[in-house]
Amino acid sequence: SKEKGKDRYTFFRTDMKTDSEAEAKVELELHDAVKNDQFILVFQPQVNLRSQSITGVEALVRWEHPERGLLSPAEFLPIVEKTSLAPVLGRIVIDTALAAARHWLDSRLDFGRVSINISPSHLASGLLAEHFKEAMVKYNIGPERITAEVLESVFLSDNRSGHLEALEELYDLGVHIELDDFGTGYASLTHVADLPINGLKIDKSFTNQMLQDPKKEAVVNQLIHLARSLNIGIVCEGVETEAQYDRLRMMGDFSIQGYLIARPMTFDRMTDWMTESAD
Ligand code: C2E
Ligand code: CA
Ligand code: CA
Ligand code: CA
Repeated sequence: SKEKGKDRYTFFRTDMKTDSEAEAKVELELHDAVKNDQFILVFQPQVNLRSQSITGVEALVRWEHPERGLLSPAEFLPIVEKTSLAPVLGRIVIDTALAAARHWLDSRLDFGRVSINISPSHLASGLLAEHFKEAMVKYNIGPERITAEVLESVFLSDNRSGHLEALEELYDLGVHIELDDFGTGYASLTHVADLPINGLKIDKSFTNQMLQDPKKEAVVNQLIHLARSLNIGIVCEGVETEAQYDRLRMMGDFSIQGYLIARPMTFDRMTDWMTESAD
């Protein structure tokens, strides 16, 4: 809605008359950002909650804006999604993430898989599998080292069949596919069995409220059982406290991600973190 849009872009709107004016300005800046390499990735580890060993690293994009400093995705991705830049940024993210993976492999650091967030526009562009193949060849990274995180909500959109086709192309490449923010869409449980996926990411809104709200805990339990019965993986995101960790441990054997384990960090710090946990 208009109101929601206003809130989201307040940051950019100080001297702007309308949302579209503000967006047009950001769009221009985004083109510069691509040209001038202003996008960076930070990384957050995922670990098995029993062995504590690393099972994956999620790549999260940031924009190093020349005047406004480091911007988080919520501040620019909604605009990117509306422009032709989504596949451009998506390609940069894939390239940078696989470059990181190549570095870690060369350093003999085990990171499990590198997880890449896929934007709905990139998924719909028809370019996604091509962009993966290109970077996989460039850095000599096999599909068993890669996870694509796709929002559950793309299967509720108008372009469901287009999204499915693009996803199947990726799945056929052998790249792992996880449904992100799982549990926040509707009818998730009934459709998930038919999708080409390897895992579910339980949304942090469930993890956050699990200990206060028995209904949220019941959902987490259901999702863990669903994954087990479909023989697919689980990553539970947003684990912030020992109490949440302890409760999850009672529910099964899967991966967790969150501030309790580590905050997202720069490539160098992620490399140090892996080096230290390998010791
Ligand atoms: P997401 O994929 O659900 O990523 C998890 C978000 O939760 C990240 O925010 C992460 O920093 C944050 N987080 C991690 N651990 C915790 C925790 O314990 N507690 C809480 N409260 N938050 C935690 P971030 O980096 O701001 O990213 C926000 C969203 O932007 C992501 O949500 C994802 O949907 C999107 N995004 C991030 N990077 C990319 C990207 O490269 N491409 C695309 N298309 N989307 C991206
Ligand atoms: Ca994600
Ligand atoms: Ca998520
Ligand atoms: Ca999210």
